[in-house]
Amino acid sequence: MAREKTLILIKPDATIRKLTGLIIDRLENSGFEMVAAKLIKVTDDLARKHYDSLKNQPFFENLIKYIKGELHGIKNNKILALVYSGENAISEIRRLVGSTNPEEADPSTIRGSFGRITTKGLFENVIHASANKEDAEREIRLWFKEDEIIE
Ligand code: UDP
Ligand code: MG
Repeated sequence: MAREKTLILIKPDATIRKLTGLIIDRLENSGFEMVAAKLIKVTDDLARKHYDSLKNQPFFENLIKYIKGELHGIKNNKILALVYSGENAISEIRRLVGSTNPEEADPSTIRGSFGRITTKGLFENVIHASANKEDAEREIRLWFKEDEIIE
């Protein structure tokens, strides 16, 4: 067992549907510790860096519009970014978050409860959570400065 940190983003579909509190409630009840939190304006550069590994996917441009809030017509879009810490936080929180495809996500998970698939085929799955140790380290560095993480 190792203590790990993982990046959470409350995606714009969750913001506009006022699901932020419900999602944080699920995370709080998981027993993991919140060690960082801030609202961030998602620039085009930040969005593209965050999803860099998906740049060749057919849904990439829609994904960038999604994370920037453009898909939902949100002006002054900002995302709530969080870091959670704890034993095996990365895989345990991914389990709580559920499968990428909300239709396949277990109904008890965050994505299973609140996610949906749009007619364009994009998965609006309300939350991002780092998938593995490598992603988590890279993503936390991208979204937070070291002194913003309080442990
Ligand atoms: N996504 C999508 N269609 C796909 C795969 C991914 O719309 O076939 C979106 C979805 O919002 C997902 C994000 O792109 O959360 C990032 O994809 P990734 O494969 O990294 O999934 P995640 O790590 O978020 O579960
Ligand atoms: Mg991913």
